[in-house]
Amino acid sequence: MDLIAIRQALHSIPEAGFAEVKTQRYLLECIAELPQQWLTVTTWRTGIIVRVTGYGAIKTIGWRADMDGLPIREQTGVTYASTHDGFMHACGHDCHMTIALGLLARVANEQPKNNIIVYFQPAEENPGGAEPMLAWLKTERPDLLPDVMFAAHVAPQYPVGTIATKPGLLFANTSELYIDITSVGGHAAFPHETKDASVIAANVLLQLQTIVSRNIDPLHSAVVTIGKMTSGTVQNVISGAARLEGTIRTTTPQTMEAVKRRIEAICTGIAASFECTVDVDYGSSYYEVNNTPHYAEALLAFAEQFDGTTAYACPAAMTGEDFGYFLKDIPGALFWTGANTAYGLHHEKMLPDEALLHVNADFVHAFLTSL
Ligand SMILES: [Zn+2]
Ligand SMILES: [Zn+2]
Repeated sequence: MDLIAIRQALHSIPEAGFAEVKTQRYLLECIAELPQQWLTVTTWRTGIIVRVTGYGAIKTIGWRADMDGLPIREQTGVTYASTHDGFMHACGHDCHMTIALGLLARVANEQPKNNIIVYFQPAEENPGGAEPMLAWLKTERPDLLPDVMFAAHVAPQYPVGTIATKPGLLFANTSELYIDITSVGGHAAFPHETKDASVIAANVLLQLQTIVSRNIDPLHSAVVTIGKMTSGTVQNVISGAARLEGTIRTTTPQTMEAVKRRIEAICTGIAASFECTVDVDYGSSYYEVNNTPHYAEALLAFAEQFDGTTAYACPAAMTGEDFGYFLKDIPGALFWTGANTAYGLHHEKMLPDEALLHVNADFVHAFLTSL
């Protein structure tokens, strides 16, 4: 199995969440080429679940790879760049799928002792595929639930072979945030006949800044960021509608609820004081990635002695990952794996070092079959 060719093929066909149709077809073709004696293949929406029956199983070990790309116009200049205009594998999910295929190739050729299940999960970026996939497994196919589960994410800033994780909280609770203000616009020279949505939006923006500084316990971290603000149409018309778009990040689910309660209180107050309508919508929310301490420590210890990897006990980050939903119910851990590229995740030039593919397929296979 030529992992570099596979990753390049996947890289060229990035697709949106729950629209990974070509990606699913390509993966199914790759899986069909493997020895099938102890494989069973199941599809769920655009995802794929491959169960490998062990020869003396006492447990079932899960490995998850996410499948979707991002609405970003690729600027890497590589020959195998995206053929889907305006879409790109800018978060390394092409690498994650390839590592999972590398793992499958190894266990399809040499039957493992324990059962191994590989989950190709759609829609990690948006709207979130882990939560509905897990809900489906629990209700329809509990036989396909693992006892323990792992996943990796490429990390641009680390050299290839770096395996970085930590016990407990690794990634934050996250939520999108959309605030729509509907008021009364009008002629720029008659402000008293309007309710200026730009001024209202500015007040919302400033009051949001008091949540982290004045409502949240300083020992409980939170982020409230408004990344985009739009209002009005032209210089001499008072705006009648404005929109703020942002994200919330917290290190506990309780802090997330506290931040949301304050946002709603502020918006209710602003609506009353400015005589307008303020609607709050959270879009997609992800549960924290909270590693089972024992398994994060086992990953680091294994990486330390494995040929080709080094372990790094990294700090937690305010990034989000919907793998957190699996870890809410199933013990396990997620780790960063070094990708050695100058550009960060979601950057139009993000290009992982392909050397990570074989290193990780070998590492993941060795680690999972050691459990
Ligand atoms: Zn991403
Ligand atoms: Zn990602």
